[in-house]
Amino acid sequence: MKPKLAFYWCASCGGCEVAILDLNEALLDLVEKADIVFWPCAMDFKRSDVEKMGDNHIDFSFINGAIRTSEDVEMADLLRKKSKHVVAFGSCSCFGGIPGLANLSSKKEMLERIYDTESTEERAVFPSVKFEFDGEILTLPEFLDEAKPLEEVIKVDYFIPGCPPQTEQTLEALDSLLNGRSDKKVFASAKSVCEECPRQKEDKKLSTIKRIYEIQDDGRCLLEQGIPCLGPATAGGCGARCVKANYPCTGCNGPTQEAIDQGARMIASLASALGIEDEEKMEEKKVDELIDEIIDPVGTFYKFSLPKSILKKRWRDLDKSKTIGGRS
Ligand code: SF4
Ligand code: SF4
Repeated sequence: MKPKLAFYWCASCGGCEVAILDLNEALLDLVEKADIVFWPCAMDFKRSDVEKMGDNHIDFSFINGAIRTSEDVEMADLLRKKSKHVVAFGSCSCFGGIPGLANLSSKKEMLERIYDTESTEERAVFPSVKFEFDGEILTLPEFLDEAKPLEEVIKVDYFIPGCPPQTEQTLEALDSLLNGRSDKKVFASAKSVCEECPRQKEDKKLSTIKRIYEIQDDGRCLLEQGIPCLGPATAGGCGARCVKANYPCTGCNGPTQEAIDQGARMIASLASALGIEDEEKMEEKKVDELIDEIIDPVGTFYKFSLPKSILKKRWRDLDKSKTIGGRS
C-alpha cells in the first residue's frame, strides 16, 4: 500500500506550498509513490475529512507556517493525532520564522496598528470574535499572544528548514522518509553556509559595517567587506545560493547544528570580524559606534528564529503573565 501524505499550512505566506509545486516533474513521481490525502491549498479537502480518518492514518504530515491562531493549534493537534510522523516544513514551522518577528509587539499593539491608524476610515473598529451569519453564530479563530514554532504545540519528528525549503532538500527528505531511511531528524547540512560559499576569505578585520548598496563588491567574503552576512551561523544545504547571487545570507535555513542560538552565534562571529575580541585594544566609543551601525539588529540576527531564540525565552521568563493559546 502507498504511504499517505498530508500538507497543511498554518501562519504561512504560501511560499512553502509553492515550494511543493516547485518540485515540478518530481511531483508526478511523488503521486505515483504516495497518496496525498489532505492538501487544502491545492485541492478541496475539508477539516471534517481529516476528523473522519482513524488515528495514525496518515504516514507523514508536512505542516508549514508558524502557529499564530487557535485554529493553527487545533489543526496541529488534529494532524498529530491522525499521523504517524509530523514534519515541520519551512523555517516558520521550524523556528517561528518571519511571522515570529511580530512577537516584538503585543497583540494589542498589533491590532491597534492594523485597525486604528491614520489611514483607517472608521477608527478603532476591531474584528469581533463572534458574529452572526445566515442566522448562525460563527466564531473566528483566536489570534494568539505570540507566533510559535510547531514544536511548541505538538511533537515534531522531522524538520525541513528553509524559507522556503530548497527543492533538493525537499526531494532528499521525501526520498529518505518514503523509503524508510529516516536516520536524519533535520534535513539541512551539518556544515554552515560559509563552508559552501565560494567567496575568498582573508581573515581581515572590519573597520565599519555597511549595507549592500554601499559596497563595490570585490568578490571577497561579504562579511569581510562589512556586510552582516549570516553564513557563519546558518545551516548549509542551500549551496550558498544567495551569496553566489551577490546577496548576503539572511539566515533562512536556521542555526547550524552547533549553534544553540542563531543570532547569538552571528553576533559572536561579527564581534570576531570587528576585532571586538581585542576589545581592550579598541576604544569603547569606537566599539559602540560600530554596533550602532547595524540597522535593525533583531531583524538582522533573528529574522527567522526569534520565537526559538534564547533571547525570546528570556523575554518570556521575564513576563510570566504571558500565556499562549491557553498554554503557558
Ligand atoms: S518559511 Fe518562508 S516561504 Fe515558508 S511560509 Fe514561512 S515565510 Fe513563507
Ligand atoms: S560570511 Fe557570507 S560571504 Fe562570507 S564566507 Fe560566509 S557565507 Fe560567504
